[in-house]
Amino acid sequence: NGQATGEYEGVNVQVLLRCRPMSEKEIAERTPQVISCSETTREVILHQNVNGKLMSRTFRFDKVFSSEASQEKLYRQAIVPIVQEVMDGFNCTIFAYGQTGTGKTYTMEGGPRRSDDGKSLSAEAGVIPRSIKQIFDSIDASNADSTVKVSFLELYNEELTDLLSFDDAKDDKKALRLLEDRNGVVVQGLEEVSVKSAAEIYQVLDRGTAKRRTAETLLNKRSSRSHSVFSITIHMREVTPEGEDVVKVGKLHLVDLAGSENISRSGAKDGRAREAGSINQSLLTLGRVITALVEHSGHVPYRDSKLTRLLRDSLGGKTKTCIIATIAPTVQCQEETISTLDYAHRAK
Ligand code: ADP
Ligand code: MG
Repeated sequence: NGQATGEYEGVNVQVLLRCRPMSEKEIAERTPQVISCSETTREVILHQNVNGKLMSRTFRFDKVFSSEASQEKLYRQAIVPIVQEVMDGFNCTIFAYGQTGTGKTYTMEGGPRRSDDGKSLSAEAGVIPRSIKQIFDSIDASNADSTVKVSFLELYNEELTDLLSFDDAKDDKKALRLLEDRNGVVVQGLEEVSVKSAAEIYQVLDRGTAKRRTAETLLNKRSSRSHSVFSITIHMREVTPEGEDVVKVGKLHLVDLAGSENISRSGAKDGRAREAGSINQSLLTLGRVITALVEHSGHVPYRDSKLTRLLRDSLGGKTKTCIIATIAPTVQCQEETISTLDYAHRAK
């Protein structure tokens, strides 16, 4: 249905919109819906009742996924070409952006992974397990000698935590440090786990999410204020027919951003204010960096936040960036939905 691959070409930032379905509770309570999506026209329409008058606003994106769109469909239509690019030796980043409760983690990690064994994916598997599978399928089909390494970190209150480190003494007190050198950005002390098969990577993912969940119960809904970054690096060594060694390196960052409601939150006290401020900083800076890249304006303010410093070598230049903006269909969420639609739309 007109998904011309040419649409991608020369465009570095792709913005997708996904609307989650109504929850059982919302259905039971007959919560009014204010969103309609058209995948064919790539439009999202917000229906508002303003002083008794029905108004509607339309937003267009590179792709739109309605509440019926499966994980498989989103992956096939939007992510497959990006992972292909990574296998060709480029750096790419995929972000999930949206209000808490709209499906960022569902989109990136997926629902319960019952039948995942690395060979087959459950219908609810998200972008992370699906890209891992695509990467290993691609490696298996090639004759390159490849190694795959992954890291998983969390950025909370402008501090980095290693979600894969077993050394608990290390990460609780000492935050990881970001160092820039000539070759790019290095996270000092970050655990890079080497994986041999897709099956192994699921254990790694589980380890990280379990650790994140522990932190969450301790710190009360920390995950809605923190960003998580799952990174996959693939080194591919091929010998050309002339006997020359060629090494390609591809990198994929999969980022589950803090809830976008934090961007507008202000007036909180003490620690909370600092938290809100830092998240503002990373989300706002990300928005500015993307705007600067899209508009080809000279200065790109990478340095203004940890998140953009961290992702610098995978944003802009010869890279592909994809933002999956997530929204809820309900009337209760409409103010946040408008901000998300505006933010995501500006990134185009
Ligand atoms: P977030 O990470 O943005 O806070 P979650 O991914 O935790 O949101 O989603 C909130 C709830 O909605 C979860 O129970 C999740 O399983 C469900 N959900 C979100 N998106 C979808 C979807 N596209 N299809 C089915 N359920 C979804
Ligand atoms: Mg989440």
